Amino acid sequence: MTAAGMNVDDLAARARDTRVVVVGGGLAGLAAAWRCAKVGMAVTVLEAAPALGGTLRRVELAGTTVGAGPWGWSSRGGAVHELVDDAGLTDRVVEAAETATWLARVPKVGAVPAPEASILGIPENAWDESVRAVIGWGGTWRAYLDRVRPPLTIGNERNLGTLVRARMGQDVLDRLVAPLSVGGFGLDPGEIDVGHAVPKLNAALTRTGSLQSAVAELRATRAEEGGVPPLKSLDGGMPQLVDALAARLAERDVQIETGTRVERIVRVGDVYEVAVDEDHVLVDDEGEEGESSPTRVADLVIVATGETDARRLLGGLLGRDLGAARSVTREIVTLVVDQAALDALPRGATVHAVPGTGAADSVVVESARWAWLAGVLGAGRHLLTVAFGSSREAPATEGLSDADAIELARSEAEAFLGVELPAVAGAHRARFELARPASALGQPEEAAEIRARVAGISGLGVVGAWISGSGLARVVADAGDEAERVRRARLFAPERGQ
Ligand SMILES: Cc1cc2nc3c(=O)[nH]c(=O)nc-3n(C[C@H](O)[C@H](O)[C@H](O)COP(=O)(O)OP(=O)(O)OC[C@H]3O[C@@H](n4cnc5c(N)ncnc54)[C@H](O)[C@@H]3O)c2cc1C
Repeated sequence: MTAAGMNVDDLAARARDTRVVVVGGGLAGLAAAWRCAKVGMAVTVLEAAPALGGTLRRVELAGTTVGAGPWGWSSRGGAVHELVDDAGLTDRVVEAAETATWLARVPKVGAVPAPEASILGIPENAWDESVRAVIGWGGTWRAYLDRVRPPLTIGNERNLGTLVRARMGQDVLDRLVAPLSVGGFGLDPGEIDVGHAVPKLNAALTRTGSLQSAVAELRATRAEEGGVPPLKSLDGGMPQLVDALAARLAERDVQIETGTRVERIVRVGDVYEVAVDEDHVLVDDEGEEGESSPTRVADLVIVATGETDARRLLGGLLGRDLGAARSVTREIVTLVVDQAALDALPRGATVHAVPGTGAADSVVVESARWAWLAGVLGAGRHLLTVAFGSSREAPATEGLSDADAIELARSEAEAFLGVELPAVAGAHRARFELARPASALGQPEEAAEIRARVAGISGLGVVGAWISGSGLARVVADAGDEAERVRRARLFAPERGQ
């Protein structure tokens, strides 16, 4: 008997008899599918694209296989590591070798290192030379007012943009804070909730009397607690995680159907009917076309698509319009370039531009961050990712041909990195829906409201970046928790008629 007083054999039988359909085979869907498959449920993953992985899509570039989306994860929390362990990839986990960040296109200054002693770009000391180099004397004197103004004139301000402007002025906001939020999340500082991004900042501001002192205090506390958790990845690239999970799922007899877009989910009595696109044709292992079934029947459904489809599919089930998607359109151009001058990392690994000064938002030298990649590419060859698009502006690459988008990325990378890049050995362009982070103003509140409605429908779950907040660490932890909730509710529900 279990602690809940159930017979273990009954529980195993109940798991075996439970049909789960996971809609979407990105990392959230795969993590949720794994949770359900682990206890022996009969799981099917329906993925619209020809391959699993979603944003962890794979590309071939200059003879090397890499991912076009995320390159690593924040090790905060440990959920991704746990999934990596389950996937059998523990020995491939690596840490970023280089994290130095620069700022580019700073008006009248050009490119300079981003001040290290900061949180979210807010410096702990406006008089530090690295800060003055970015914001000039005028900006520094304005930022200094933060030290002499009473903290309560601003109250408990949650809007990052408003807080920084009020305490430290427009130059700190535009040149130090906005490059990080736009480059990293595609969001303006005015769209970030300080209370979620750095929960203890406002209290520290009240306690210490200034925003700079608050940043200094929190940095000291973080250092005592071991510092910021490192950025991790897999030797060989993130798409391996998708392959390894797919293999684990196959071992548990999980059915994986790619090229299968779910159009509609309907609750009929105690079950769900999951309707896939009519043109879908099943192809067996030998490549033979088989019977196409437009509908799957499930006891549990976990919606794990991107934001647009999730709002549509859940809206149908909940009988209400869940509104428009708020994800940001982001285009990433990945370039493999031959330029030995980049071996010395003239501008660190990540360069963010001051928003509104050019076409691209950031350039990352992935071959500087990941030693395995540098090893594969060899000296003198580098892999760069150039990001376009934020909530302020559609990607500058939008509407361009691939060749023109790649040329724009190349010339932007030259400007950001301060070196000529005449030799492009390979290039790839990809378009993504970048979900808002959990620190976006209103994101957690909206997610909680949708989750509460979803939890009101038996056997329904929702996972994915748009609901958990973007970032692999969050996505994976949240997908595990949500799948666990749905799974437990099913396994430990009283028998009908009892
Ligand atoms: C360019 C970029 C870079 C990033 N870099 C990082 C990083 O370095 N570190 C980090 O931690 N995070 C990063 N992120 C965030 C992270 O990648 C995402 O939060 C995470 O991968 C989202 O996973 P997901 O499964 O929720 O969504 P997705 O990966 O989008 O998966 C959703 C899946 O659902 C499928 N689908 C959609 N509609 C349907 C339908 N109707 N029927 C069936 N299937 C459907 C899609 O084809 C897709 O495969 C990055 C994101 C982007 C866009």
